[in-house]
Amino acid sequence: MIKKKIIPVISLISIFLILLGIAIYLQNRNSSAATTFFAMDTIMSVKAEGPDAPKAVSRVEQTILELENELSVSNDQSIVYALNRDKHGSLTADTKYLFEKSLQVKEMTGGAFDICIYPIMDAWGFTDKNFRVPNEDTLKQLCLELSEATINVDNEHNSVSLSDTAMVDFGGIAKGYTSKVAYDIFKEMNISNALINLGGNVCALGKKSDGSLWSVAIKSPLENLDYLGILKISDKSVITSGGYERFFEQGNRTYHHIIDPKTGYPAESGLISVTIVSDDPTLADALSTAVYVMGKEEATALWNENFKKFDMILYDDNNRLYITEGLKDDFTSELEYEIIEK
Ligand code: AMP
Ligand code: MG
Repeated sequence: MIKKKIIPVISLISIFLILLGIAIYLQNRNSSAATTFFAMDTIMSVKAEGPDAPKAVSRVEQTILELENELSVSNDQSIVYALNRDKHGSLTADTKYLFEKSLQVKEMTGGAFDICIYPIMDAWGFTDKNFRVPNEDTLKQLCLELSEATINVDNEHNSVSLSDTAMVDFGGIAKGYTSKVAYDIFKEMNISNALINLGGNVCALGKKSDGSLWSVAIKSPLENLDYLGILKISDKSVITSGGYERFFEQGNRTYHHIIDPKTGYPAESGLISVTIVSDDPTLADALSTAVYVMGKEEATALWNENFKKFDMILYDDNNRLYITEGLKDDFTSELEYEIIEK
């Protein structure tokens, strides 16, 4: 008698547990999560969908905060701070990747991108917000030192050394790298789609849950215009550099934070906004800074040699908008624009 009653109860419990398991699985499969926080001097927002989305999003936030502590040039506990002080240090996985990429982009841009720019950023007061225009002789001397600065990466001993006057600043590449780290975490955790927005620099994983592409508004350098256009993307990064993002005024002039390593002065290439689109976020960030320094002609030559690696959206000081060929099917704008072809 007792046996006969127990068996149906056990079956009922089993069915209940199976159903509960299915419900939890379905809920996790479709779970979504989002967070907004302040890091690296900007507002960051990250959203994701897929299994374990809440766990993935909080791991990404935590990792970004750790990266900020590692790469900061001003925090005296950071690895980069110690390296600038001691001129020698061990490489981490992050700094190893960043040095490699920074040196590659320096090479490919003829020195327009140079992480040894730190002493010049400091002379202008961009590092401590004590803004001032340095005198010409100081800038000449700093440019000479910059041209002689060396970074020696020793992969065998996992270490890096800087020449005596060299100091590095990953400010022009760190956010792109951070997007890459976030993207890789989401991929590893089987997130089906995500949008990583680091102060307007966007990296998209997959497509939106309805299967459509992500729409990204391209930042505008103009006060009376919200955005330059809309770009549809999937598994790509869209990173913008502009002098309007950080600058100070002295006399009747404004001085911005993207420095031409050849002159030591804020770059005046005729471009006032540069957006790079690439499936390599670290490259996109470094190139956005470099192309701003290089100007349209040099940048077009660079794109012609590397059109498989990136595309560009350029806006110049004559209010002309340009996009490279690779974006023509995915870009819309109310402004007139010219397509740069190969
Ligand atoms: P972004 O907003 O990506 O263009 O980066 C600008 C930041 O990059 C500045 O605040 C500096 O920290 C750094 N930077 C400025 N000029 C250069 C340059 N020519 N090469 C590399 N980094 C630079
Ligand atoms: Mg950049």
